[in-house]
Amino acid sequence: MKLTVLGCWGGYPYKDQGTTAFLLQANGYNLLIDCGSRAVTELEHHISPLCVDSVILSHYHNDHIADLGVLQQYRGLWPKEDSNWDGQILKIWGHTEDKFYFDHLTFADVSVGKSYEESDLKRIGPWDVTFLRTIHPVPAFALRFLERDTGKILVFTGDSGYLDKLCTFAKDADMFLTDTYFFAGNERHFAHLTSKEAGEIALQANVKKLILTHLPQHGDLEQLKKEAEEAFQYKGEVVLAKPHMVLKIYS
Ligand SMILES: [Zn+2]
Ligand SMILES: [Zn+2]
Repeated sequence: MKLTVLGCWGGYPYKDQGTTAFLLQANGYNLLIDCGSRAVTELEHHISPLCVDSVILSHYHNDHIADLGVLQQYRGLWPKEDSNWDGQILKIWGHTEDKFYFDHLTFADVSVGKSYEESDLKRIGPWDVTFLRTIHPVPAFALRFLERDTGKILVFTGDSGYLDKLCTFAKDADMFLTDTYFFAGNERHFAHLTSKEAGEIALQANVKKLILTHLPQHGDLEQLKKEAEEAFQYKGEVVLAKPHMVLKIYS
């Protein structure tokens, strides 16, 4: 599978770059993980937004859904006479604990909201997807993608404060994508992980590669990375996410 970073700032877009959005691809299937600001135009550098098969949302904070409405409009307003597009209805996966947002996932003839719960295992394209409720001011979920053909695992924390269960949830992941909104020294925050916590969880979970995302706009990102590497005890590669970075997980 292949993961492309579309946006990786936490909270708000900054300096011509957007917020959380990733394109996950395998076996010709295109899955958008979160749909933050600028997701649609960044996506156009890689695939047409018409080619997204489904979207999965970790939670409904603005920095994770800002471009969802315009993605729906992009597909809804696309000329119906275009014979190159089949007008496929977009599936948008989200939790149902906020009815207002969940209801907006469905848009007549464009998209349909599909629900998940923490206890679910959903087959989405080539992946089995499982869920873990995280520490956050609103209902939010970490996502684990197991590629059925290869057994390769990607885990995304979504937004979360420190949570022991993430160590089990991310166990042996080939790639661990973590909310890293704070520098070391701000541990046990109610909404986000620090660099140190991201590294500690990566170490406990024995993951192969740690990708830091949901990055802070202020401070030295190389320092953030260094703190995560120290906590991970240099057991695997640590990478700062960057728009258009392509990360491949092959067997
Ligand atoms: Zn966020
Ligand atoms: Zn959030």
